[in-house]
Amino acid sequence: MMNFPILDTKVYGHPLVYLDNAATTQKPQQVIDALTGYYLTLNSNIHRGAHYLAAQATERYEEVRRKVQLFVNARNNKEIVFTRGTTESINLVASSFGRGFLKECDEVIVSGMEHHSNIVPWQLACEQVGARLKVIPFNDEGVLDMKVYESLFSQRTRLVACCHVSNTLGTVNPVKEIVRIAHDHQVPVLIDGAQAVAHMPVDVQEIGCDFYCFSGHKMYAPMGVGVMYGREEWLDKLPPYQGGGEMIKDVTFERTTYNELPFRFEAGTPSVGDVLGLGAAIDFMQQEGIENIARHEEELLNYATEKLSAIPGLRIFGTAPHKAGVISFLLGNAHPYDVGTLLDKLGIAVRTGHHCTQPVMDRYGIPGTVRASFACYTTTDDIDALVNAINRIAPIIC
Ligand code: PLP
Repeated sequence: MMNFPILDTKVYGHPLVYLDNAATTQKPQQVIDALTGYYLTLNSNIHRGAHYLAAQATERYEEVRRKVQLFVNARNNKEIVFTRGTTESINLVASSFGRGFLKECDEVIVSGMEHHSNIVPWQLACEQVGARLKVIPFNDEGVLDMKVYESLFSQRTRLVACCHVSNTLGTVNPVKEIVRIAHDHQVPVLIDGAQAVAHMPVDVQEIGCDFYCFSGHKMYAPMGVGVMYGREEWLDKLPPYQGGGEMIKDVTFERTTYNELPFRFEAGTPSVGDVLGLGAAIDFMQQEGIENIARHEEELLNYATEKLSAIPGLRIFGTAPHKAGVISFLLGNAHPYDVGTLLDKLGIAVRTGHHCTQPVMDRYGIPGTVRASFACYTTTDDIDALVNAINRIAPIIC
C-alpha cells in the first residue's frame, strides 16, 4: 500500500505538489516504521556486541546487505559496501583508486553531464598525483557523443566515471555500451546510479560495471545511507579508504592488518537504523514493482513533456530520446529562482539553480534551470497543477 504521510501537507493553503524527487524522495510509512522500530526495539552497535540486541541488530543489518545484493544483482554480498550516500561512495573509490592506481600523466574520463560529486573527487585524486580529467561531450539534446568518447582513450586512461541518469537533463546513458568500450581498453568503469535505482531495474552484472554508487534517500529510504557496489576483484585490490574500528583485523603500533570484504571499507559505527530503512524501501519498491514504477514515470514524462512544451516561451533542456522522469526548463527570460519561488507560493515544490552540474549550465550558456522530477507517487494531477501554475505566473514574470 502506497502511504506517504508527508504528501498530505498543505503549503500556504495549497495541497503540496512535490516535484523535487531528484533531490530526495519522500518516505513511505513502512520506511518510517523501520527507522522508528529500530530505535524503539533494536538500537545497539553491530558486529561487536556479545548481547541479544547487538546480535539482532547485526543480523538485520546484514540481511539488508543481502537484500541490496539481490536488488542490484551483485555476485555476492561482499561486493556491497554501506556508505553515507553516492557522494561518499564515489569519494571512497576515487580516494582508494587514486592512491592505488593513479600516477602522474594518467587520465580519468568523465562525462560532461556529471553531478559535481562525480567530478570533484576525481579532480582531487588527479591533483594528488598529477593526473588529468578528459571529458565526454554531449549534444544539444543531452546525448553523449560516443564517437568522441571512444577517441578519448589512450595508454594513460585508468578509469571512466559516468552517470547512469543525468540529474539535470534526465538522459539515460548507454551504460552497457560505455562499459563495453572501456573494457575493450582494459579500463574499469564507475557508474553513478543516484538517479537510476529508484526509477528502473538495475543489474550491475548486466551493465558489467566495476563500481556502481547510489543514495538511499533518493530511493524512498532515509538520509544517511548509501551503497558502493564494487566488483570483488577490484575491492580486493583497493587500499582501505578510512581507518578506524571494524575495518581492521589486527592493530599494533608497528603494523595493521585489515578486515575482509566488505568490512574493510566500513570503518566506524554505521548508520544502522538508516540501513534497516533502506531494506524497507527496497521491500516497498519490490511490492510496487520496479517495472511498474518505471512505466508509470515514463507515462508521466511523456504527459508532462507534451503539456509543458505547449506553454509559450517555455524551453526544455534535455530532450534525449531515452530519458527518465526529470524535466529542466526555463520560462521566457525569467530567472529560474523567481519561477521556483512563485511556484512554491502555489504549493508546488521544484528545484532551481545549477543542480550541482555547473558544466551542464555552461554548456548551454544559462545560469540554471527550473527542474521538476517525478517519483512513483507523482500523478498527472500534479503535472496539471504545475502547468496551471506556470500559466498563472507567466504573465507576471515574463
Ligand atoms: N550523483 C547524482 C547524479 C545526483 O543527482 C546526486 C544528488 O543529487 C549525487 C550524485 C549526490 O548524491 P548524495 O548527495 O545523496 O550523495
